[in-house]
Amino acid sequence: MLRTHRFITVLYFLLIPFSVFSQSAPSFRIVPLGVLGGIDESNLSAYMIAATGTNNYVCMDAGTLHYGIQQTVDNKVFSIPTEQVLRQYIKGYCISHAHLDHIAGLIINSPDDTAKNIYGLASTLQTIKTHYFTWDSWANFADDGEAPALKKYHYQILTPDSIIPIKNTGMTVQAFPLSHSNLTSTAFLVNSNDVYILYLGDTGADDIEKSHNLHKLWQAVAPLVKSKKLKAIMIETSFPDEQPDKTLFGHLTPHWLMAEMDDLAALTGTDALKGFNVIITHLKPPQTSIYKIKLQLFNENKLNLNLIYPQQGEAIDL
Ligand SMILES: [Zn+2]
Ligand SMILES: [Zn+2]
Repeated sequence: MLRTHRFITVLYFLLIPFSVFSQSAPSFRIVPLGVLGGIDESNLSAYMIAATGTNNYVCMDAGTLHYGIQQTVDNKVFSIPTEQVLRQYIKGYCISHAHLDHIAGLIINSPDDTAKNIYGLASTLQTIKTHYFTWDSWANFADDGEAPALKKYHYQILTPDSIIPIKNTGMTVQAFPLSHSNLTSTAFLVNSNDVYILYLGDTGADDIEKSHNLHKLWQAVAPLVKSKKLKAIMIETSFPDEQPDKTLFGHLTPHWLMAEMDDLAALTGTDALKGFNVIITHLKPPQTSIYKIKLQLFNENKLNLNLIYPQQGEAIDL
């Protein structure tokens, strides 16, 4: 009996290192600065992404910057002052669409920021240029638009199908249009060393939006899912299933998210999605809705996706 016990103990300690090493080394660090879809202005969509081991981040959307960075410093994710994270570690912004909950942090923090690029589809950058970085609503911190231009930010237009470098990060980005009610929103496929993260801005389901944008996106990334090069999909679920289809305003529910994941599974096979990382963004308060969304996603997760709920100021290594 004792010998058996000792044998099991030895086996246990022998196996621990293997279970640690069996997981592949992380490729990306995601640092969420804001994770909700409203109404808390201190916690709106913004996600810093960098290749593991570097501090060369691109920020996907910029709803909340300052308060989120403060949380990262308090949590010791970063060991430099809050202002320095904004100025030095964030090398550029990818803006999915120009709704305020995705850009307010960028506008408000612009006086303290350093020169960098803002990446987006032409329509998104046009709205920023004509509605936010203007002298009536703020100041023109960009290098185009209303005079005088203060030339801190450079608008870098992304066209679907072209892959362009994200300056000073060693990463590249490709944009895909998404349907978001009356607006075109954007998905960004970020690549570092032949591994990928897919970030989606706000979007509705193809069936509701009368669109093929998500299906086309799934066709583009299905090979990367199958080859395990895509580390995660970051996608919204704004409302619980009780929200009627006609009042989704270009957003997803657990039901519609899983319908889209089924569409992806039809292209990849269900095995490829078992344990696949899906980071759920843009949950809309109140807290009772957020609980409902999480419970419904848990119950409807027939594909056994690895659902991840990002927390403001806490790093995710993938
Ligand atoms: Zn939004
Ligand atoms: Zn939106």
